[in-house]
Amino acid sequence: MSQINLLDLVSNKVKNLKAYQVETVEEGIKLHANENPYPPAPELKKIIQTRLEKLELNRYPDPDCKILKEAISSRIQISPKQIVIGNGSDELIQCLMQVFCDEGDTIAFPEPTFGMYAIMGKGMGLNIQTFPLNSKWNFETKSILEKLIASHTRIVFISYPNNPTGNCFSQNEIQELIENFEGIVVLDEAYYDFSGQTFLSQMEKHNNLVILRSLSKIGLAGLRVGYGIFPSILANEINKVRLPYNSNSISQIAAAELLKNFSMVQKQIDSIKDERIRLLEEFTKIKSINAFPSDANFILFQTCDNGEKVFKSLLENDILVRNLGTHPMLKNCLRVTIGTQEENDQFLDRLKHAIK
Ligand SMILES: *Cc1c(COP(=O)(O)O)cnc(C)c1O
Repeated sequence: MSQINLLDLVSNKVKNLKAYQVETVEEGIKLHANENPYPPAPELKKIIQTRLEKLELNRYPDPDCKILKEAISSRIQISPKQIVIGNGSDELIQCLMQVFCDEGDTIAFPEPTFGMYAIMGKGMGLNIQTFPLNSKWNFETKSILEKLIASHTRIVFISYPNNPTGNCFSQNEIQELIENFEGIVVLDEAYYDFSGQTFLSQMEKHNNLVILRSLSKIGLAGLRVGYGIFPSILANEINKVRLPYNSNSISQIAAAELLKNFSMVQKQIDSIKDERIRLLEEFTKIKSINAFPSDANFILFQTCDNGEKVFKSLLENDILVRNLGTHPMLKNCLRVTIGTQEENDQFLDRLKHAIK
């Protein structure tokens, strides 16, 4: 029987990490994970079910994801050669780091932003350079460019719109970054369907641009499907590090059908956008709360009360939001995902109760 100290064997880069924490509730209203509150439309579900019946689950999935790439290709007019499918776009963030960085290399991103860039970067032994956003949750390229060059930064990750602040950064600043930074600029457009803003058209002119999209926020979070749009040379490099069967056959088929029948999802997106307007309006009526404008399917807001207390009070009333207050730039800030009209009404009602 061997009894060795297993934790002594863990690499330093992993030892000092913390696992990504996601809170969940069994019952109650989940407004913490930026999911689509609506299940797939019944017609879409039926189409997917019919396709699934013919699926050979004893066979490996298509490693090239041909059908899914065709569906994406015809939706966004990009050659399948430029597309790589990920097990969620999270996986592609990791692939990008593997392709462009050796241990000790630097990646950069604004602060605050999506937590996974830092978690994955640290897990791969990379240096992290952050640039703090200003009070309007924006940044100036001029003031960061020198630092990016001095640190030999390999990749800059831009969440567009930014999670958790909700805004799309200034187009001019991003344009300037793409044109002047001699490394990879990743525009993480996970919330594109809610913002309608994209840098896709810039890919022809600038070969340092990579765009990531996800189906998690528009209805298929449970199936883990994301995709990246790359210059075709880079798609080949990503394919070298991607696991051959990273996307399973059920996810490939369901995602392709969702994209081919997009009008059904579009209806859901439209009502989430309507609710976004309504929620923001309702927020302005609450004096002790400052809500930030949003281009995404969530809203960041700051409370005059203790944010932790508001978070717990909501939770006691079966409403789970995301508590961001531990971040030094987000004191007393919570992030709420836009739900169905009924869910939003309950959230507002219990929020008002919580801050009384
Ligand atoms: C949710 C999210 C992702 C991850 O999406 P998956 O496709 O579910 O992995 C990526 N980037 C940002 C900014 C997100 O908020």
